[in-house]
Amino acid sequence: MSARELQAVIGLEVHAQLLTASKIFCGCETSFGAPPNTHLCPVCSGQPGVLPVLNARAVEHALRLALALGCRIRRRSRFARKNYFYPDLPKGYQISQYDEPLAEGGAVELVLEGEPRRVALTRIHLEEDAGKSLHEGARNLSRIDLNRAGVPLVEIVSEPVIESPAEAAETMRALRAILRCLGICDGNLEQGSLRCDANVSLRPRGARELGVKTEVKNINSFRFVQRALEHEIERQRSLYERGEVVVQETRLWDAERGHTAPMRSKEEAHDYRYFPEPDLPPLVIEEALLERLRGELPELPLARRLRLMRELGLPELDAAELTRERELADYFERALAAGAPARAAASFVRGELLARLDDARGALAAPVSPEALAELLALVESGRVSGKLAKEIFARMWQGGGSAEAIARAEGLFQESDAAAIEAEVRRVIEANPAQLAQYRAGKGKVLGFFIGQVMRATGGKANPALLNQLLRKHLDGDEGGGK
Ligand code: ADP
Ligand code: MG
Ligand code: ZN
Repeated sequence: MSARELQAVIGLEVHAQLLTASKIFCGCETSFGAPPNTHLCPVCSGQPGVLPVLNARAVEHALRLALALGCRIRRRSRFARKNYFYPDLPKGYQISQYDEPLAEGGAVELVLEGEPRRVALTRIHLEEDAGKSLHEGARNLSRIDLNRAGVPLVEIVSEPVIESPAEAAETMRALRAILRCLGICDGNLEQGSLRCDANVSLRPRGARELGVKTEVKNINSFRFVQRALEHEIERQRSLYERGEVVVQETRLWDAERGHTAPMRSKEEAHDYRYFPEPDLPPLVIEEALLERLRGELPELPLARRLRLMRELGLPELDAAELTRERELADYFERALAAGAPARAAASFVRGELLARLDDARGALAAPVSPEALAELLALVESGRVSGKLAKEIFARMWQGGGSAEAIARAEGLFQESDAAAIEAEVRRVIEANPAQLAQYRAGKGKVLGFFIGQVMRATGGKANPALLNQLLRKHLDGDEGGGK
């Protein structure tokens, strides 16, 4: 196989921790970062003789996702035990779903380099998270924290249809945006509330049959989704080039070394001996519940982005940034509803607001409300405040200085739109600078900038620029018969 003809095929298995107050089968807390082994009970620590009770909120969250992604929802799904041994799995099995998952089909929609793409999904199912091994390399010691054991997860499995590492990373970004927009997962790759296993194989371009794949784990950022896959594709490509074969295996991404390495296998045989979970009844989804959840679905980030572009003529970049977080988009649209012009609002939200927020999700709690921003932008629109001073006013509003109008009044920041006053300044400046006037009249048009600067300085930057320009030209060109 010549390496040039090889084409990558990628499929993602994504795990998302659902934002519920308690674990999926018991009442233990789910919050991240508690001291090890403090969120534990007989159920999630795998004591004998206890029974799991399904968390209804977790089911609702998973259904929200399935509805948002357009999956077919199974009205009766089933939990299954996935048996394997690992120290972080106290029961010796994970409760998951197997041959009757909650939802099948659907797709993640995204835009890649301006082109709409649809990444088809295989399935979405519910399961419980395992605990966490804390390895202390220096002391050659491993400890187990079971706080995470039993935290609800959805697993989202894509079809092997992703064509490039960049598309894989974008799929993750789109999924994260949807999860956060739905309010069902905080999507933190670093802390592991959103995780991605990337499967990749190569095949001759145009071939239908899939090549042997490897699965790359331990990817904890969007950048690494792309880099790990790029590396793995190169590794496989060079194997084929040397006439060797790719071995189906799980490999770990090592971000420090920038490569993947085979993982100490924990379940080489892939024989999980799945069997139906005897302690949980089938999960039956009522139509009424689906109806309610459908009605509660928010507008999804991509749809909102496209709508803002369509309705307001916003550039793609603005629209994408504004719809990155639901709260930010809400802020922007509330400013519009209060009368703010779209372009100016977009630029203020992207520039002034975002620069001052640690997290765009806090937009609606910002010290400057969307309505207050709209008031400020109305002053700019009407020419009473210059665009430049508007930023200063915004900064004062942020510090609790009051409304735009009040600040502009108190600080004397209103733009000078009194033609007579500006004209007086123009006359004075022209008289004071005969040399520059001569240059201008000799055809040096650039000297106009000098005069603008002089009048602006004299008026503390407050002269209405359009008016100033007009008056300057009138006097520079006009007085002596437009002699240029
Ligand atoms: P496994 O049994 O190893 O878990 P699955 O068939 O369940 O494999 O698929 C797991 C993930 O791997 C899915 O996202 C799927 O799209 C992807 N996948 C399966 N086969 C391939 C392949 N040959 N190349 C790339 N991705 C693949
Ligand atoms: Mg699988
Ligand atoms: Zn518990």
